[in-house]
Amino acid sequence: MKPEIMDRVLLRGGIVIDPQKQTARRADVLVANGKIDAVGTNLERRTPSDVEVVDCRGKHIASGFADMHCHLREPGREDEETVASGTAAALAGGFTRVCPMPNTDPAIDTEAQIRFQIRRAAEAGFARVHPIGCCTKGRQGKELAEIGSMVEAGAVGFSDDGSPVADAQVMRRVLEYCKAFDVPVISHCEVRELVEGVANEGRVSTRLGLKAGPDVAESAQAARDVLLAEFTQARLHIAHVSARATVDVIRWAKARGVQVTAETCPHYFTLTEDALAGFDTNCKVNPPLRSEEDRRAVIAGLADGTIDVIATDHAPHLKGEKDAEFDAAPAGIIGFETAFSLGYEKLVMGEVLSLVDYIARLTVVPRRILNLPAAAITAGSEAELVVLDLKAEWTFESERVRSLSRNSPFLGWTMHGRISAALLADRLFRF
Ligand SMILES: [Zn+2]
Ligand SMILES: [Zn+2]
Repeated sequence: MKPEIMDRVLLRGGIVIDPQKQTARRADVLVANGKIDAVGTNLERRTPSDVEVVDCRGKHIASGFADMHCHLREPGREDEETVASGTAAALAGGFTRVCPMPNTDPAIDTEAQIRFQIRRAAEAGFARVHPIGCCTKGRQGKELAEIGSMVEAGAVGFSDDGSPVADAQVMRRVLEYCKAFDVPVISHCEVRELVEGVANEGRVSTRLGLKAGPDVAESAQAARDVLLAEFTQARLHIAHVSARATVDVIRWAKARGVQVTAETCPHYFTLTEDALAGFDTNCKVNPPLRSEEDRRAVIAGLADGTIDVIATDHAPHLKGEKDAEFDAAPAGIIGFETAFSLGYEKLVMGEVLSLVDYIARLTVVPRRILNLPAAAITAGSEAELVVLDLKAEWTFESERVRSLSRNSPFLGWTMHGRISAALLADRLFRF
């Protein structure tokens, strides 16, 4: 995936989406030397002839998306994903900034490792990386990690994702520590004692004979953590909300004034546990796909703002490992290249969110939570733009996947809306 290096680019005739002003209006965007030079109508007339024109008529222009939650497998499992391959896949999905979780091998719990991931991404030149550091050393849930020095190195949030912080006293300390640095604690909510396997406990798991865990394994920890966040006055972010009761807990906490935010992922508002009927291990995710009632509650949570953000939880695994029995296969699916389209279909075409609000959940909201620079399409800002073709229909085929892994339940699906180009400073990518 090679960019064209361009001194001047004119994105001509697109509809510019600005979630901050809540507007979508037709305009040209002129980029010169990596920066937005002007936004307005008929810029072509005022532009020198050496400008590269990208025809955006019938298309939309938005700030690059920020993914708060993904897994790049470097260091440790570079066969599944590297920082370079993952950030290329992310960019092709419209994500210009991604936040990898620290459950690599070894886990990211030092300043040097944070710097390593950021450097790797800069060398690759695709999406930028803002790492999430471990809350506790080695993700062991016992001793606090070096949170302060990791913040200094560029970590933007802290989580032991993949594992919960089981000990409430440790979680309290993590919240207090992160509060001092104004960074959120991202909670993977799972009471492990309640979980026997990664399927939703209920009608489907019983019928299929799968080891399961109940929704209360998620919602009970979410309840504990929002209460701890209230007590410590710290910022808490709930990862991958999948259950109706979790949505209710977060809604209740927000009404009390707790500083809690939340994300869900496209699979939780697109699929249900019924997808497990064929024992397809590409439907095995943690938390598990749940009931239709849960799926609807997640959508209602997005609609009323209880759930703030759409993240991918992009989790690459090789086919060899996913080709195991359901109970034994690793959990997780890739998500960078399908997230935008799935959300566009279910939420915008499904009339849950306006297009502008949907784009906000991918751009300004995650940036605000993580203290990243605001996404602005205004003169003087660095170009970090995506061109969206909402009329396009395309099929997610294995051969076109840019991730090193192919574990997706959406292979073969035809979807609406795709990313047709991305512009990062002076680097133009066409997809
Ligand atoms: Zn998780
Ligand atoms: Zn995750």
